[in-house]
Amino acid sequence: MSESSRRDFLKGSAQLIAGAAALSALGVAQASSHGGGKPAVNGLSLDAGAGDICGTCQFWGGMRKVSEDKAHVIAQSMGWCNNPESKSYRTLTAADKKMQMSGIWKKWSVL
Ligand code: SF4
Repeated sequence: MSESSRRDFLKGSAQLIAGAAALSALGVAQASSHGGGKPAVNGLSLDAGAGDICGTCQFWGGMRKVSEDKAHVIAQSMGWCNNPESKSYRTLTAADKKMQMSGIWKKWSVL
């Protein structure tokens, strides 16, 4: 790899990382605007006992963790719905999105 192409590669990588960080921050901002959860220092804090929302659903593929006291789920991003029975299947949803269909939400197994 020549010196100029290496420089271009590094420059492009830095721009990609900056873009990903900006999108991640945007995801948290969008999630917190849906109103179901409370903005937390490191994401959106959701009641771990809440049903029919993406953040507590087994099928949700976003960045999340359970609080130490297991009372809350802290979500840090939008996430993919991986439930083929849902209208939101294979789309990005906010952690506090309310499930529109009944009977297909399943509690996250770690809760
Ligand atoms: S849209 Fe429904 S099935 Fe999909 S992740 Fe959210 S709560 Fe779960």
